[in-house]
Amino acid sequence: MDRFDFVVIGAGAAGEAAANAALERGRSVAVVDCDLFGGSCAFWACMPSKSLLHAASEHSHGYSWQRAADRRDYMINRERRDYPDDSSHVKAIESAGGKTFCGLAHIAGPGEVDVRMADGSTVRVSGRTLIVATGSQPLVPPIEGLAEARPWTNREATSTRELPRSAVILGGGATGVEIASVFARFGVETALVHSHDRLLDKDHARSGEAAARILRDDGVELRLGARATRVRASADEGDEHQVELSTGGYVSGERIVVALGRSFGLDSIGLENVGVQPGRLKPDGRLRIADDVYLIGDPAGPELFTHVSHYQGGLAVRMALGEDVAPDYRAIPRAVFLAPEIASVGLDVDQAKASGVDALEFVADFATTARGYELEAQFGHLAIVVDQRAGVLVGASIVAPDASAAIHEPTLAIHARTPIITLASMIHAFPTTSRAFDGLYAQAVSKLYGVAVPA
Ligand SMILES: Cc1cc2nc3c(=O)[nH]c(=O)nc-3n(C[C@H](O)[C@H](O)[C@H](O)COP(=O)(O)OP(=O)(O)OC[C@H]3O[C@@H](n4cnc5c(N)ncnc54)[C@H](O)[C@@H]3O)c2cc1C
Repeated sequence: MDRFDFVVIGAGAAGEAAANAALERGRSVAVVDCDLFGGSCAFWACMPSKSLLHAASEHSHGYSWQRAADRRDYMINRERRDYPDDSSHVKAIESAGGKTFCGLAHIAGPGEVDVRMADGSTVRVSGRTLIVATGSQPLVPPIEGLAEARPWTNREATSTRELPRSAVILGGGATGVEIASVFARFGVETALVHSHDRLLDKDHARSGEAAARILRDDGVELRLGARATRVRASADEGDEHQVELSTGGYVSGERIVVALGRSFGLDSIGLENVGVQPGRLKPDGRLRIADDVYLIGDPAGPELFTHVSHYQGGLAVRMALGEDVAPDYRAIPRAVFLAPEIASVGLDVDQAKASGVDALEFVADFATTARGYELEAQFGHLAIVVDQRAGVLVGASIVAPDASAAIHEPTLAIHARTPIITLASMIHAFPTTSRAFDGLYAQAVSKLYGVAVPA
């Protein structure tokens, strides 16, 4: 039996960050993973999808699918093999002084974790603090006939070496729209079905409209406001499956890709043995779910991103070691890597009002900014949401080619509660996307304080 200061279950973005934070502070750490150290971001999600999106954006300039698949395999350490190699992640933990266990973890009691190893043996690992970082899995709903069609999830869609001739993507969130764009740009006949009238429906309305425009331009057939009600699976490999829609009619594809959200699988890891009831768990404001047990990463929410997982990993360790810190989720940036990119941070104006903020929104059309003219942009926007009483930003949204970078100025402003009047007096380089914020800050200052921007 081994005893550690921290036992981290799951070595994705959250678990790795927690392990590193603890090791940097001189603590002993065991990290357990039953699949790939590095988790989904490195192998089945962010890294391969962004690599393929980059390739797809260059496809019309001669970037072939073969080159895209090779580059993606390089990114996920899968060159000349079928399954990715995670040894660099294992080595990083071990060379920092951590101990790794490759096996399935089950919590046996307070501070006690049983790890079922590949050879069938079980090792008991003990720790003062348990950190649960078990991530999420694709949610595959019980739609009649869907299982028979052997649908792909993000895992197969981002790791395939062969493209299907045609595909039906179920789900119009970030994962669905990014996969649809890659497939369509590489010539796959692609349909996307989304139950809401708008893609990216949790985002700014203009962002959803922009996503629809981008995908239509990519050649994707959009079926919005429609649900898949039944699948007629084809018996023959290579033939198309038919997906019946709640709005009538059907769409068909050789592959069905499910991008309908995530499940968390926390019911089977033994949390009842530390007094936690099964079900979808919510950690407290300090990420705790029981004494000396922290929940971080995707299952902890509030948003499912690598950067949130990473942030929580470091914080959980600091809190466990008694530091007076707690997560602050006001300024979580989100980015969808279509071309142009779509990004946002904080609240939209309706969310801000619903949470009691006296909010006002200011919007600029990106296509009419200097940067937009220069890039011949046909659409796009920048928007800020301002708390009128406090005179600070509470949200922002951008559709522009470099939106994922430009969103970090409002992210910093929200994080640091920078007064709008300070933002309005800064200098932005001309002609950049960020410079278009100048006009919005000036409008806000004029509206809030009745004065022109300070010289
Ligand atoms: C297609 C796609 C694209 C994405 N793109 C982005 C992006 O561009 N940017 C971004 O910020 N986010 C992106 N995300 C989200 C991001 O991938 C996740 O939020 C992030 O990977 C979550 O990290 P995690 O550590 O919580 O979980 P994971 O990375 O899933 O790690 C959990 C680990 O726990 C292990 N595990 C589970 N149960 C056990 C057990 N009982 N015993 C031992 N080990 C166990 C698993 O094997 C896994 O390695 C994307 C998601 C998808 C699906």
